[in-house]
Amino acid sequence: MRPRRAAVFSLHTSPLEQPGTGDAGGMNVYIAQTARQLAEFGTEVEIFTRATSSDVPPIAELAPGVLVRNVVAGPFEGLDKNELPSQLCAFAAGALRVEARHEPGHYDIVHSHYWLSGQVGWLARERWGVPLVHTAHTLAKVKNANLAAGDTPEPRVRVLGEEQVVDEADMLVANTDFEAADLVERYGADPASVATIPPGVDLEVFAPGDRVAARAGLDLPADAVVLAFVGRIQPLKAPDVLLRATAELLARRPDLRERLVVLVVGGPSGSGLERPRALQELAAELAITDVVRFLPPRSGTALADVYRAADVIAVPSHNESFGLVALEAQACGTPVVAAAVGGLPVAVDDGVSGLLVDGHRTGQWADALGSVVLDPQLRARLAAGTVEHAARFSWRRTTELLLDAYARARMAFHARLRFEEVTA
Ligand code: UDP
Repeated sequence: MRPRRAAVFSLHTSPLEQPGTGDAGGMNVYIAQTARQLAEFGTEVEIFTRATSSDVPPIAELAPGVLVRNVVAGPFEGLDKNELPSQLCAFAAGALRVEARHEPGHYDIVHSHYWLSGQVGWLARERWGVPLVHTAHTLAKVKNANLAAGDTPEPRVRVLGEEQVVDEADMLVANTDFEAADLVERYGADPASVATIPPGVDLEVFAPGDRVAARAGLDLPADAVVLAFVGRIQPLKAPDVLLRATAELLARRPDLRERLVVLVVGGPSGSGLERPRALQELAAELAITDVVRFLPPRSGTALADVYRAADVIAVPSHNESFGLVALEAQACGTPVVAAAVGGLPVAVDDGVSGLLVDGHRTGQWADALGSVVLDPQLRARLAAGTVEHAARFSWRRTTELLLDAYARARMAFHARLRFEEVTA
């Protein structure tokens, strides 16, 4: 039986925010897309998020059957993500107050995203007597094991909070088998309570299109050699690797300078916010400001046109639980050169739709990027594999599997209740 109404918790970032800057990224896209699909399958969705402006209404409609509830919890502005644990109680109180206004059983499942929401979901599960499904999206222990040089480690409060949520959730959703293994091996999750559910891609928005027109729209010459990075600008995403590789490529092939363009699309995030201009400074240090263009985040066709305009998309992240950008680029027919970390070996079919690079050394990245953009045969071969690979993923399929996970969570929840009754 499908749930009638799901309470989805996304405490620290709203699905209505523009992804690609600040705290908004793949998780926001994931929540919005799966909520839309759940509603189409007949499950209404109410997404609870923390209000970050006095202008936002208490309730907004994201799509038919999908509401966003902006819960007032702490000051609207100026709260850093690391300060949000101080607002868990206020946020939980707001969510419980909403539910109390309805008949009992208003929500029949709770799905929390990221550990902060997991803590609130845990309390809601206890109060409402419904199963808790949790998706971590990123894990502190994995992140800390793959830190970029100079990046700030995730605090102990997050590690402890994640361990508790992993322990409490009736079902955990992992993006890939790699993440599922991390949940089991690093966090002690019961393998039976972990479902691997790959995320999707919107194949209507992200589809091959006219490359020349896409380039013209971005003021790029039709014959340019275009490398691009799309995503939040933060040390973990390693856009600096692309800039260093570009400088190396230009040192090897000075003749490319006239034609080479590097697009960096996205805004600062997390520790990047401390030095929002760090990447511009690096471009200046590397003497490549003439080839690098920084563009603000964008959505829909405007984003698809960036993917279409590029010869290759670089995803040099130090860690990535999946990497939606890689999938979106391939759906647009553009090969990806990605770091062989986290979920990227699933998102990119190595040698078929792109190349995986083992490590972050400048020379390796210059080799890989150079081989794709300077060898027309290789680029054409990889481009030919992109769309088919991306088409294996869809938000509809993700949501079908989520509904299976919800059903398994319900069984686990009731089994736990029966066990507690017997042992009480
Ligand atoms: N994104 C966007 N506009 C931008 C840059 C990024 O909408 O200018 C979106 C992108 O389409 C993708 C998400 O942000 O869906 C980033 O997801 P990904 O999994 O690559 O990284 P995350 O942000 O989750 O670390």
